[in-house]
Amino acid sequence: MSDCLFCRIASGEIPAQVLYEDEEVMAFRDINPQAPVHILVIPKNHYTSLLDLTERDQELLAHLLLTVKKLGSRSDLEGGFRTVINTGDDGGQWVKHLHLHVLGGRPMGWPPG
Ligand code: AMP
Ligand code: ZN
Repeated sequence: MSDCLFCRIASGEIPAQVLYEDEEVMAFRDINPQAPVHILVIPKNHYTSLLDLTERDQELLAHLLLTVKKLGSRSDLEGGFRTVINTGDDGGQWVKHLHLHVLGGRPMGWPPG
């Protein structure tokens, strides 16, 4: 999907501050951070949203969450972190390529904000 922003980041066509990368997933800093630490974790292959995943994608889902866990051992997230997946327009999903937000570096409070 050459017109998809996160596909273009995954391919290296658009630069990002990449913190972790392997064959299947990539983690990079959000360009408009909502917290002192704001990282996005994406599958390198294009999935429009969580709704695009099927039973066959269980390993990928686990891989995405374990990547979040890996990032969670960073010293700047030692106090904990929030993981958010926005889905669809009502969910506030602007970039239509599945991504997990990892937010931390301050108490995130409740309700989300
Ligand atoms: P969402 O509202 O869940 O679709 O979140 C999309 C996120 O992508 C927002 O937090 C944006 O700040 C972030 N974003 C948009 N463009 C870029 C970019 N080029 N590099 C990094 N993050 C981006
Ligand atoms: Zn994409």
